[in-house]
Amino acid sequence: MIHELFRKAGELHGHYCPGLATGVRAAAEALRILEVEKKGHALYCIAENRACYQDGIQMIFGTTLGNGNLELRPRGKSAFNFYDRSTGKSVRLVARDKPKDMSREELTEYILTAPLEAVFDQTPVRFEAPEDKPGRRGSPRICPRCGEKCSEPFLRVSDGEIVCLDCAEA
Ligand SMILES: [Zn+2]
Ligand SMILES: [Zn+2]
Repeated sequence: MIHELFRKAGELHGHYCPGLATGVRAAAEALRILEVEKKGHALYCIAENRACYQDGIQMIFGTTLGNGNLELRPRGKSAFNFYDRSTGKSVRLVARDKPKDMSREELTEYILTAPLEAVFDQTPVRFEAPEDKPGRRGSPRICPRCGEKCSEPFLRVSDGEIVCLDCAEA
C-alpha cells in the first residue's frame, strides 16, 4: 500500500528519494491519525521546509499548490502540520534523525516502513490553519499603477491608492 503511494508520488516528483518518502509517509500517517474519510477542501497542510517532501504531501494528502491548501512557512525544519478543518483534528509530524549507515535505497525503505515513532515525532500543530471558506482569496482588483489584476489579500494602501504588493513596495 505505502509502496504504491510512493510509486504514484514519484510520477509527480520526477524521481524517487528519501525526501519524497518522508512526505508520502507523513501524509499517509496524517490521513490515518486524523481519521480522514474523504479527501477534500477541508484538509490543509503547512510545511515548515521547502524540499522534496511537498510532492509526497500533494499527491497523498491531496493538499496542493493548485487548490491552495498547501502552505509553506519556512522554518528550516522537516515538520508538517496537518489539519482536517471539517473535524477540527490536527497533528504535526516532525521527521526524526535517520540511521546514518544506510544506502539511499535502504533509507527510503526505512522511512516508508519503520514504525511510525521511529520515523516521526508527533506534536501539537504550531500554526492555526486558515478558515475553510471558498473565495477566501478575495475578489481581484486592477492595480492603478501597473494595470495588472491582483487578488485582495495582496493589495496595499500606498499614498492613498489601493495598489498591488509589487507597486506598494516599489
Ligand atoms: Zn526528491
Ligand atoms: Zn501594481
